[in-house]
Amino acid sequence: MLTYPDRLELAQLPTPLQRLDRLSAKLGGPSIWVKRDDLTGCVESGNKLRKLEFVVADALAQGADTLITTGGVQSNHCRATAVVAARLGLASHLVLRGQQPEQATGNLMLDELLGAELTYITNQQYQDSIEDIFSFIAQRYIAQGRKPYCIPTGASNGVGTWGYIAACKELKADFESAEIEPRHIVCATGSGGTQAGLSAGSYLYDLGARVWGINVCDDADYFAKKTRQDIQQWSERYYPQLDCAEVDINTIDGYVGPGYGRATAEIFDTIKSVAKLEGLILDPVYTGKAFHGFIQEHQSGRFGNDGDVVFIHTGGLFGLFAQTGMLTA
Ligand SMILES: *Cc1c(COP(=O)(O)O)cnc(C)c1O
Repeated sequence: MLTYPDRLELAQLPTPLQRLDRLSAKLGGPSIWVKRDDLTGCVESGNKLRKLEFVVADALAQGADTLITTGGVQSNHCRATAVVAARLGLASHLVLRGQQPEQATGNLMLDELLGAELTYITNQQYQDSIEDIFSFIAQRYIAQGRKPYCIPTGASNGVGTWGYIAACKELKADFESAEIEPRHIVCATGSGGTQAGLSAGSYLYDLGARVWGINVCDDADYFAKKTRQDIQQWSERYYPQLDCAEVDINTIDGYVGPGYGRATAEIFDTIKSVAKLEGLILDPVYTGKAFHGFIQEHQSGRFGNDGDVVFIHTGGLFGLFAQTGMLTA
């Protein structure tokens, strides 16, 4: 039914689907499963790789030799783009939101190691004029006879939506082999593309599961619009017969805390306890925050009293290495 476009093979797929036995026993209620998308690769790890398989294939089809993208200073997406670029022999230029730190740690250390060109901008510049900044930088490459390709924040757009639509096909097979029929799938939401792809994919592959994004920035209204826009863009280009209104969008707001990238002591406590109990490492920016919210919602009964629920572990390990001070505090 779906006709897939060009796709690069970058991720190690399928990723494992694992049951968290001890946490499930401790909490009671629906059994907790984790889809280990933190294991899509070692350095190219995380959810962005699934989207980049399609987005970078699109870039190559257009003859691109330089990938330009944007994100926070500790962006997993920027790091993944820089690794993919280096692996494919392309150049990368990252427009990073925030201040250049004295010492590069975590993802930023890898960006430098990978030879990415870096430009730092303020939050305000990002809000007001990221499109202009992209075209300014792209023009400079074009003037040098190069072929730049701009990837939006998080590779969340119509093309990137394919990543988690394809992941739903994989999940369907995972559920069959585990002999489970989860009614809920939960992920961290930052730029919306993972939630968009999962929401559309769950509908298209008839997973019978409701998809919930737990936002780590912005709010539920923002993601209702943003995910729908990604799905709309996807369907216009690849699958116009989709009635976008049929796709259910669910965002759980209330766990952003002090702001994007900033986590409270409670989040670090969740990270520590899940690490000790299950050997599962979460990060303070995305998965730790979302998993903390997920546990609260699980306990308040949002996912029912029994059955199975799946949390998508979207990666983010290197972000933890940039905030180690909070772990020992
Ligand atoms: C980017 C990211 C997310 C959020 O995914 P979006 O598709 O941008 O909403 C979640 N977890 C990690 C580790 C990420 O890097």
